[in-house]
Amino acid sequence: MEKQHGSVSFSLPKHVLDVAQALSGAGFSVHLVGGCVRDLIMGRSVTDWDMTTDAHPDRIQEIFEHTVYENEYGTVGVVCDAVEDPNHRVIEVTPYRKEAGYSDNRRPDSVTFGASLEEDLARRDFTINALAYDPIQQTIVDPHGGIADLHRGCIRTVGDPSERFSEDALRLLRAVRIAAQLGGNIEEKTESVLKQCAPRITSVAVERIRDELVKITMSDHPADGVQMLCDVGLLEQVIPELHAGVGIEQNQAHSYDVFEHSIRTIEHAHTRSFRLEVRIAALLHDIGKVPTREWVQNKKDWTFHAHEVVGARMVRTILKRLSFSKAITETVTLLVRWHMFFSDPDQVSLSGVRRMIARVGEEHIWDLIDLRMCDRIGTGRPKEQPYRLRKYISLIEEVLREPVTPGVLALDGTDLMRELAMKPGPRVGHILHALLGDVLDDPKKNTKEHLIEQAKKLTALSDKDLIARGEAGKVRRFEEDEEQSAAIRKKYGVS
Ligand code: ATP
Ligand code: MG
Repeated sequence: MEKQHGSVSFSLPKHVLDVAQALSGAGFSVHLVGGCVRDLIMGRSVTDWDMTTDAHPDRIQEIFEHTVYENEYGTVGVVCDAVEDPNHRVIEVTPYRKEAGYSDNRRPDSVTFGASLEEDLARRDFTINALAYDPIQQTIVDPHGGIADLHRGCIRTVGDPSERFSEDALRLLRAVRIAAQLGGNIEEKTESVLKQCAPRITSVAVERIRDELVKITMSDHPADGVQMLCDVGLLEQVIPELHAGVGIEQNQAHSYDVFEHSIRTIEHAHTRSFRLEVRIAALLHDIGKVPTREWVQNKKDWTFHAHEVVGARMVRTILKRLSFSKAITETVTLLVRWHMFFSDPDQVSLSGVRRMIARVGEEHIWDLIDLRMCDRIGTGRPKEQPYRLRKYISLIEEVLREPVTPGVLALDGTDLMRELAMKPGPRVGHILHALLGDVLDDPKKNTKEHLIEQAKKLTALSDKDLIARGEAGKVRRFEEDEEQSAAIRKKYGVS
C-alpha cells in the first residue's frame, strides 16, 4: 500500500477546528475523513463534516457537552450549538472501524472498533473517499492514490471492485452519483465490474436509491449522470420506463430519440438552476411517449396521442415506487400532465390561462413555464422563450397581478361608515372610488388618517357632485389597469 503524506492547509469553520482540538487536547488522534476531504481538495462546498478518531464512543461523549449517540456503528454526533444553521450543527465523530462480512449485500454483519486509520480508510468505497486530513498537523493521508484520482476525475474502488460492489450494492449507484457531481469518469475496471453487478442494485432499499437519484438530478452534470446510469445497466433496473426511451425515434420535429431528448431537457434545468421538481419532471416528462407511439401512414410520421396523460400516470407510479414524498410526487405528476399546454398566441386567452393556473396551482405555474423552456432547449430549439411563450408568460402575470380596486385602500367601507357615521348606500361606494382615484395619482396619500380627512370633505358634496367624483375615480382605475397591463406586455415585448 502506497502512502502519501503532504502538508496542506485548508481554512476550516471554527466549530470544526474546535471539535478537532478538543479531541486532540484529550490525547486522541483526529482526522477529517471521506467526502469532506474530497470536497475541500476540490474547493467545493462541504455538505457534512465527518471525523474519525481512536477515541471510543464513551470517551467522545465525555469530552463534549452535547452529543447524540443512536446507532450501532459507533458514530457520535457532536452538536455545536453555536452554529446557526441546523443542517451544519452536527459533526459526526466515528472511531476507526473495520467491517466484517456483508451477507446481505447491504449492511456489514459486524463492526469492529479499535482498528487503525489505515484499516478505516481501506473499508471505504472509492479512493477519492478514502482520504483523511489531520487538521492539527495539517497533513493529508492518502493510502490509495485518491488525490491523483481526484485530479483526474477518476472514480475507482479501493481494492478489488468485485469484492467492494458485492459487499454493498449501494456503491454501484454512489459511483455514478459521485462521477456526476465531480464531472468525472468511472475507471475502466471498476466500470466493467459495475456493469456485471448492476442487477444487484435491486437489493438496496428504495429510499437509498431515491437519495442517490436526487443527488444525480441536482448534480452539476445530470445528463452525463443519467447517461452513465443507462450505459452501466443501472437505469433499466431503477427506472426501466425511462430506459425504454433509448432508440425510440420521434416525429420530424425532433432530432433526438426520446431518451436523449429527456436528458438534454434535464441538463437545461440544471443550467438554469431549476428546482428538484422541475428537474425530475424534465427527465420524465415524455415517458408516456413509448407506450403511446403510433405510426400514421398518411402523415408518414409518428404520433404520441395523449402521451402526457399516460405519462403523468406512469410518473406517479414511478415516484411512489421510489418512495418520493407525496408533495414531490403530486407536483411532478401535475407538471408532466400539463406540459403540453397550448400556447398559440392567436388563440390563447386570459381565461384559458386562468384555467391552467387553476389546474396546476398558482404555486406551480412558473414551474410549468420552466419545464416548457427546458423541453424546447432539450428538443434542440435555439430559443428558450419565443414570442408565443413570452405572450403566455405575460398573460400569467396579468392573471396573477393584484387587481386595481378600492381593496388597495388603507380603509374600507366599514371604516368609512363608522368614522363618518354614514349609513350603508351608494354614497359609500362613490367615496371609496373617489379616494382610489386620489391614491392612484399619489400613493403617499394611502394612509387611514389622510383618507378619513378627505372622506369628510367628500361627504359634504351633493349626490350629483359626489357621483361625478366617484366616476372620475373609476376612470382613473380603468386607466391604471390598462397601464399595468401595458407595462407587463412591454416587459415581455409582446402586444
Ligand atoms: P456527500 O456527503 O457529498 O453526499 P459522501 O461521499 O461524503 O458524499 P457520505 O454518505 O456522507 O457520502 O459518506 C461519508 C464517507 O463514508 C464517504 O466519503 C466514504 O468514505 C464512506 N462511505 C459512505 N458510504 C459508503 C459505502 N456505501 N461504502 C463504503 N464507504 C462508504
Ligand atoms: Mg458526506
